[in-house]
Formats: sequence, structure tokens, C-alpha cells
Amino acid sequence: MTHPITLHNSLSGHREDFIPADPHRVTLYVCGPTVYQHAHVGNFRPVVVFDLLFRLLRHHYGADHVIFARNITDIDDKIIKAANAQSSPIKEITDLYTEIYRAESKALGALPPTIEPFATDHIAQMIDLIDTLLEKGAAYSAEDHILFNIDHYDAYGDLSKVNRDDMLAGARVEVAPYKRNAADFVLWKPAKENEPGWATPAHFGVAQPGRPGWHLECSAMIAATLGKTIDIHGGGQDLRFPHHENECAQSGCANGAPLARYWMHNGFLSMPSGKMSKSLGNVVLVRDLLLEWPGEVIRLALMSAHYRQPLEWNDTLLAQSKAQLDRFYRSLTDHPVAEETAPDPGFVAALNDDLNLPSALARLHALRDAGKADVLRASGNLIGLLTQTPDAWFKSSSPQSTGAPTDDEIEALIAERRAAKKAKDYGKADGIRDDLKASGVIIEDSPQGTSWRRI
Ligand code: AMP
Ligand code: ZN
Repeated sequence: MTHPITLHNSLSGHREDFIPADPHRVTLYVCGPTVYQHAHVGNFRPVVVFDLLFRLLRHHYGADHVIFARNITDIDDKIIKAANAQSSPIKEITDLYTEIYRAESKALGALPPTIEPFATDHIAQMIDLIDTLLEKGAAYSAEDHILFNIDHYDAYGDLSKVNRDDMLAGARVEVAPYKRNAADFVLWKPAKENEPGWATPAHFGVAQPGRPGWHLECSAMIAATLGKTIDIHGGGQDLRFPHHENECAQSGCANGAPLARYWMHNGFLSMPSGKMSKSLGNVVLVRDLLLEWPGEVIRLALMSAHYRQPLEWNDTLLAQSKAQLDRFYRSLTDHPVAEETAPDPGFVAALNDDLNLPSALARLHALRDAGKADVLRASGNLIGLLTQTPDAWFKSSSPQSTGAPTDDEIEALIAERRAAKKAKDYGKADGIRDDLKASGVIIEDSPQGTSWRRI
């Protein structure tokens, strides 16, 4: 078959034809969330961008021939801290925020990944990986930690293009006296008292139970779910170093084969104060956005710049996206869904061109202007837009929450209300209930959980 897609490969720094190793089994891995609190709308940029790629790959290779794995990081220092602060078992926290992440992704029109591996389900594979690295002399133990020795990977730095001397500046590299190289990273660390841990194999030379390092988790889950060398690995550009560089090093060393053939990194969502991030405290939560805007508006807003470019977030962007969707849906009114309409070839060509969203969206506007309702709908559907009927759209998206939110949006808000209650933020929980009521949705709590109905 011909291979129509070209992608900017962060590894080579060039645009390349995308040629999967096996077109019957195209593999994509994206680093998923650490589940202990609400993700902000910036965290959903990779969700939407790689959902778009997933859909495009399915379009070309067939839905059954694309395998997309996105992990859940359910063991981490920040999770342990959140569990202690809320006096809750870790699993209660991770289950709840996994559910919210899934519900919010769905409300933003993202397909579920084919496989969603949990880190804590792959501890045995992580230990095996460490064993292999120890056998090859690429890992060493020091002060109850097992570390990866970057001297054992000649290609270290090839992905991030970070010079070894510059590696420490400004990145998430932990300085510790027992490291042979400053950029050596932890594969296994001791569990402190009252921290969860797994039995450490005796030959690790570490006395107490331990837990895996973050980078190791992805390497083990990729091998377990997709194989040793995958087609595409994606994530936000902040993950390129050290996270992805370290994934490359340990998998490359252990398997004697490259981890991924194409690497893709999305640009940041930013605020006037800089990159949207929890540490800067300038975050906008999807939970709050969903109270005011349909998920499809948030999705289109996240699609409004090229995925490698920065995207500045503001209310105007949301209002513009809403206005655009109104225009699209208005043009679909009185055009019932026609079966078997193909998307516009120019639109698909724009997506094939390293997911050129600005040009693809311009194409949608041209189709609307030309009155090609069926092709407009089919093209929009390819990227998860225009999936409602105009009727449902105008009912659900009218201002001041007078319309009814979609089922997916309601489910997401109910999960968020549970989280607010759990965090003892009763004001927020009541606010969500009242907002839903104002939109004509009544929720009822019972020992079996929360049910809802429209009035
Ligand atoms: P984290 O929970 O920080 O590991 O982030 C989860 C995902 O969201 C990663 O792929 C990050 O690269 C991505 N991400 C975090 N902040 C932003 C942002 N402001 N803009 C775009 N992507 C982001
Ligand atoms: Zn990862």
C-alpha cells in the first residue's frame, strides 16, 4: 500500500514519510497521566492531538490495525502525598482520578486508547527489565537505589539533542551524591516507612522493599503491551528530556533495538504568565470549563494551532471556537446524515501533512462556504467534530447553561463532584450539583452511587 502520512520526527529533526513496520499492526504509545488530582486543560492538549493522530491512522490503516496504548501512572511520590493528605488509600485516589480522566477525555471527544496499562500491574516486567540491565552492566546499585549508567548508551542525548554537560540545567534531573554521572537515573528506589513498596529481589543488593522509577514504568509497559520497537511514541515537549531520553536509553540497552521509530512532541498550552502548569499555579481545569462550554468547543479550541506550535489559552479562543461550531452546525441543518460519504481529499491531505490542523480547519470552512454539507460532516467526523445533530447542538450549547449538557459531559461532572467531596471541597461539590440543576439535570445520591435524570 502507499503510505500517505508524513510526520515531523523529533528524533531526526526532519519531516519523514511515515512507514509503519507492519501496516496491519501500527503501534502508538503516549505517556499518560499521573492520577492524583485534576488534569488541567494543557494536559489535554496531548490527549486531543494524539487522538487526532489515532483517528487519522485508523482512517488509513483500518480501525483494527492500529493499536494505541496510553498508560496510567498509579504509583508516584505525588500520589502518596495526596493519599496521606486526604487520609485515603492510594487505590481510592488513583481509581477516582483515572475515572475522571477517562470521563473528561470522552467529554472532549477523544476515543479511548486500545490499551490502558497501569504501572502497578507491570511491576514484574519492570523488575525483569532491571535484571536485564544489571546483567548487561548498564545498571548499578548504590545506597539502596538501582541506577542506570548513561555511559552504557552511546546514543544518550540523541533524542533530546541535549548536550551531556547541559543536561542538569533546568531539567527534572535529581542530583544525588551516589550517582556515577549526574544524569544517571533511578530504576528502583527504596520505599520509605509507611510507603507502598514491592519485594526487592535479593540480588538487587537493596535491603528493603522498593518501587520503580517513573521512566522505567513506560519502558516496561511499552514492551509488555506493544513490543520492543514501536512505530510512534508521543507526549508533550517537556517529556522529551529527561523522560523520553531515559526511556530510549534503558529500552535500547535492554533490547538491543530502538524503542520507537518516530517521536512526536506537542507544544505547550500557555497563559499570559507562561506555560500552563501546576507549579506556576496558572491552570484552568477542564472540570470548570465543562460547566460553561460544550466539550466539543474545548476540543476545537485545543485544535486551533499546529500541534508543534505553542497555543495561548483564553476565553476569546473558546468564544471563537463556539462561534465556528455554530456556523458549521447551522450549515448542516436540514441535511440529514448521508451514509458512506467520504471526507474531503484536500482535508485529509492537510492532516497527512504532519497533522496540519490550521490548513485542515480552513478546508472545513471552505466546504461550508461551498454548501457541501455531507462532505463537511464526514470530514469533521474524521477528527471527532460535528458528531451531533444540529438540533442537539443548539439545544446543548446555548448560553447561560440553559441547554442540556451531553451524557458524557454529565458523567464527567458527576465524577468531578465525587472528587470534590472526597477532597472535602463541599462548596465546589454543591456548585456542580446546582449548575447541573440549572441545566435541567437532577442528580441523586444513594448507597449504590449517583444517578442522574433530565427534567
Ligand atoms: P504531567 O502530568 O505533567 O506529566 O503531564 C501530562 C501530559 O501533559 C504530558 O504529556 C505533558 O507533556 C503534557 N502537558 C503538561 N502541561 C502542558 C501544557 N501546558 N501544554 C501542553 N501539554 C502539557
Ligand atoms: Zn513515558
